Amino acid sequence: MTDTNTTGTDPGAAGLARDYLDLDSLFSAGELALRDRVRAFVAERIRPNIGAWYEAAHFPREIVKEMGALGLLGMHLTGYGCPGRSAVEYGLAALELEAGDSGLRTFVSVQGSLAMSAIHKFGSEEHKQRWLPGMAAGELIGCFGLTEPTAGSDPASMLTTAVRDGDEWVIDGAKRWIGLASIADVAVIWAKTSEGIRGFVVPTATPGFAATPIGRKLGMRASIQCDITLSGVRLPADAVLPAVTGLKGPFSCLNEARYGIMWGAMGAARDSYEAALAYAQQRRQFGKPIAGFQLTQQKLVDMMLEIQKGVLVALHTGRLKDAGTLRPEQISFGKLNNVREAIAICRQARTILGGNGITLDHSPVRHASNLESVRTYEGTDEVHILIMGRALTGIPAFA
Ligand SMILES: Cc1cc2nc3c(=O)[nH]c(=O)nc-3n(C[C@H](O)[C@H](O)[C@H](O)COP(=O)(O)OP(=O)(O)OC[C@H]3O[C@@H](n4cnc5c(N)ncnc54)[C@H](O)[C@@H]3O)c2cc1C
Repeated sequence: MTDTNTTGTDPGAAGLARDYLDLDSLFSAGELALRDRVRAFVAERIRPNIGAWYEAAHFPREIVKEMGALGLLGMHLTGYGCPGRSAVEYGLAALELEAGDSGLRTFVSVQGSLAMSAIHKFGSEEHKQRWLPGMAAGELIGCFGLTEPTAGSDPASMLTTAVRDGDEWVIDGAKRWIGLASIADVAVIWAKTSEGIRGFVVPTATPGFAATPIGRKLGMRASIQCDITLSGVRLPADAVLPAVTGLKGPFSCLNEARYGIMWGAMGAARDSYEAALAYAQQRRQFGKPIAGFQLTQQKLVDMMLEIQKGVLVALHTGRLKDAGTLRPEQISFGKLNNVREAIAICRQARTILGGNGITLDHSPVRHASNLESVRTYEGTDEVHILIMGRALTGIPAFA
């Protein structure tokens, strides 16, 4: 056979660069079709605008209903207008969204995995009927208030209280870093009661509820996080989530969101790697493309190796979740590993872009800045190490 490839490059290289081990062959046609729909949405609606949104610190509320129509909100939940997708499908969507920007994947996580999951898992039938269909459609926005100014990694130390006063609950306290709170219609607020920590469904129009966006952020700029104050917020007796008491309530929602993050982080990493690869092939120094230097090739290969491994971890974890056998300690494996590797990949990608890489004209440094938040929320690196350390040794080392 005659070799017609006279350029010295491998004609199959483009396919290998995208998916070296052909991991696509591990997904069903339906999973890939959903993945491709989300990828097309990101290409059309997020990529052309994300630089401007990020610079202006603008959360694009205008695309929320489109995300609802695409079935991205509460996508792993069933009934009440929710799409009822599998864990793997949810993960693929998270990956594609975060290839656009972590802020948009975070929106889907807060709305679907935190606020909607809390209501779906623990709410009364009235709560579910009242809130979930509108939230799935993107007509209503929800938030999830667990963290406080003095209670982050240790939510058991929260100071917010809910006290019974006749037929009403009265909530007082403060929350910090609460995604979407200033534009939310409903807040799931976790508070200490005489029975332990309980969740409350709080319409944000209730007197005494106030949310102020946190400014001067150097990451996650296309998303909103807020300080919340709760001053004598009076709620009817049935505002409490009836089906759970204690921290297992919020933790079970956090596990849903942490699961999505391990996929999402690989999206940010993939986008950074692809930006670096494309740049390296056209940028010339010393008379040739910088992709032709051995040191650049090592960077690209190392990035690709970790992305493929990270996707495999996420996929395996997703299959366990769909089988109903996934343990929280296993979610920590994926969250810790994939976010840690993704930050390293985004930073390495930036080096290939040189000086041009520090602007918003290229994605890697934006992704890296976003991932600084991602490694902190939903359990910091350290907290996940402690969870896994306890699993290995049987000894909790949290305090
Ligand atoms: C962009 C963003 C969005 C967020 N969205 C939400 C939201 O929607 N809802 C919500 O409730 N919260 C949200 N959070 C809050 C997030 O969950 C907390 O930031 C996180 O839990 C860490 O808490 P902290 O920031 O108070 O840090 P701290 O808990 O004060 O931790 C500071 C450092 O100390 C380390 N540390 C703490 N304890 C230990 C220990 N025992 N051993 C070793 N090291 C330890 C931590 O790992 C970390 O490195 C968000 C945060 C960010 C940045």
